[in-house]
Amino acid sequence: MPNSPESFSAIVVDRPDGQYQATFRELSAADLPDQGEVLIRVRYSSINYKDALAVTGKGRIARTFPLVPGIDLAGEVVESAAPQFKPGDSVLVTGCEIGEIHWGGYSQFARMSSEWLVPLPAGLDARHAMGVGTAGFTAMLAVMALEHHGVDKQGEVVVTGAAGGVGSMAITLLARAGFEQVIASSGRPEQEPYFRELGATGVMPRSEFADEAKPLESERWSGSVDTVGGNTLAKLVVQTKSQGAVAACGLAGGSDLDMTVFPYILRGVSLLGINSVYLPHSRRLRAWERIARDLPAELIDNMIQVEPFAKVPELSQQVLAGQVRGRIVVDMG
Ligand code: NDP
Repeated sequence: MPNSPESFSAIVVDRPDGQYQATFRELSAADLPDQGEVLIRVRYSSINYKDALAVTGKGRIARTFPLVPGIDLAGEVVESAAPQFKPGDSVLVTGCEIGEIHWGGYSQFARMSSEWLVPLPAGLDARHAMGVGTAGFTAMLAVMALEHHGVDKQGEVVVTGAAGGVGSMAITLLARAGFEQVIASSGRPEQEPYFRELGATGVMPRSEFADEAKPLESERWSGSVDTVGGNTLAKLVVQTKSQGAVAACGLAGGSDLDMTVFPYILRGVSLLGINSVYLPHSRRLRAWERIARDLPAELIDNMIQVEPFAKVPELSQQVLAGQVRGRIVVDMG
């Protein structure tokens, strides 16, 4: 029977003869590695930047072979040897090295460790949970980090890579959290109506962060969420107000950071590192509860496009080319 644990589709990346390949394959439950005690029927996954790199082979995301990529999944439990989960339970997994070391979400059935599972929070169905996915979860962690730091909610905060998944989610979550002036920094400033719909109060072109960062520049930002890295991150730090903070999430524009220590020691600026992969389970649950509270389904709908599983390879190319706005949810069929 198609689409049962006896026969289902998955994307498998492998390196036969050293050549990186991603192919759709028909698998059975017996093919799934023994990486956990819960079997899940995957209903939805998503495409994050990392997934696009894993599917195309353009970044070293897969660290074991063969591997099913996909760092996010949501679906329901089919079998469980873990007492806290039973068949029919709705669950999600993000990060935890699935799609990197452990087989991930681009498979209609997946075996997961119960330690990675988050029960779907009330108010989120599987599709909307994957609309959020790792990108939204990361954005939530960034917003919580800025709040925990005590960033002034009346001051200007800026989100870079604004049209991307993390960026779109961060704008929405900052606005929902009561930050009064949320500026979207984007290479696509023509997306201004979209940014404003998400809750941005202003838009600036990404080129304003292009020239080399001076040791210190005029103070402007109370806080920021950066998905771009490189010179953009340096510019954010040197323009951050005294005692402000930058939540650094990504490297869409580069991984180098060439700057002096002056903003840190003369202005008390903090650089807050955000990592969504490894996290104590209790913090993971708290962040998902907050997402369910702050992000009603209709707001998530503003940021997502739902696409069939078969289109993941083609869409991954578009993600890397920066042509996708918001989040891609993958309907696993
Ligand atoms: P997306 O591809 O959805 O968005 C990335 C955005 O970055 C693009 O939409 C674009 O925004 C901007 N961008 C792309 N290329 C460049 C460039 N060369 N220079 C400047 N800006 C650029 O990716 P995600 O939102 O999923 O991820 C963003 C980053 O965050 C990635 O580096 C990803 O690896 C990282 N990440 C980190 C996580 C963590 O745990 N720390 C978790 C999730 C993601 P625009 O068109 O608006 O300028």
